[in-house]
Amino acid sequence: MIQIYRRKDVFSIRKVTGKISVFLIIIMFVTAFPLQVFAADTSQSITQYNADVLAKKQALEKKYGIRITYPQNENSYAGIGTATLATLDTCLEYVSPELIKQLSEYYSQKNGVRLTVTYTHTANFETVENARPVAAFTDALSLIEVLVPRATSNSMSSGNGPTAIVHELGHAYHEFLISNMGAAALRRQWTALNGGAAYGGRADRTVFVSDYAASSYDEDFADTFAHAFVCNRAGYSIAKYLKTASGGATALGSKVAYLEKLVAQYSPGAKTAQTNLRKCYTTPDSITYRGLKFSGSSMEYVGFNAPYGVINAIVRQLPFETKSKVWDKSIGGWLVVSKSGKEYIVFPGGNYTEIKQ
Ligand SMILES: [Zn+2]
Repeated sequence: MIQIYRRKDVFSIRKVTGKISVFLIIIMFVTAFPLQVFAADTSQSITQYNADVLAKKQALEKKYGIRITYPQNENSYAGIGTATLATLDTCLEYVSPELIKQLSEYYSQKNGVRLTVTYTHTANFETVENARPVAAFTDALSLIEVLVPRATSNSMSSGNGPTAIVHELGHAYHEFLISNMGAAALRRQWTALNGGAAYGGRADRTVFVSDYAASSYDEDFADTFAHAFVCNRAGYSIAKYLKTASGGATALGSKVAYLEKLVAQYSPGAKTAQTNLRKCYTTPDSITYRGLKFSGSSMEYVGFNAPYGVINAIVRQLPFETKSKVWDKSIGGWLVVSKSGKEYIVFPGGNYTEIKQ
């Protein structure tokens, strides 16, 4: 039995501003800590660093037919690194280049601007008390905004998490489907699969993929879309929620199957997306690491790079002093050694567990 210490809760809201719908992922912001300033990484020349980021950005823009923008740091370094763009690449691969290109073309015709992923540094948050957004989608601007923390902020998570990125793509695809099917028809067919369960409560995971999804129809669509595509690695799985004990489809399973049908019908060229969607049915529930089994939402980053800019805040919130911290893709967390010599796995978001062996 592994005790994982939880440092945060996750929930969500939908915010509507005038005619522009902005969809946000909100993470509880638990505690305030004093700001610290960290020295810039000077191990690589600024020119080379910036050239590498630019080359990666341009390669992704070409591969997916999208636009990508990112800020510049005050020290002249690009405001993100190639590792952050590699995370975006993997997320877009999950949804498939064919589907992303189709989506970008749709937004280009509708708004005159291709689907755009914009990285924005944030330190302070202004939406709701004790909460902060990590990513947002604005339909009228073809815009997916990925909020990444400054090194000096206290953020325990980043908008460049795989589920957050694909969630916003889910909103973008929802709007695309609405333009094809009509809003009322899509909503009626989707909500009919909930088996009478209403929005606004906590999630029964066999109906709603998360508490976030249980909050509203729009978030249900986007978060189901996200989990169906990203829950494809051992440990980060929804497979057990998709089938009943007798092997039939649960409400959630019916919605994932319906999503598959919609993608096949409205994105017939996106064969990879159709293949990828089916992986969520067979993803193993747990991962074994150092002889221990791990599963659940902390496993989001298995196989991914470390989320942008969160480690400093996490280290400040741990109840022990750290001697070293190394990101390990195979567990999607940092292997942290404390000053007293104990070993821990620390996950993005701040959950951690001691490795006793
Ligand atoms: Zn959302």
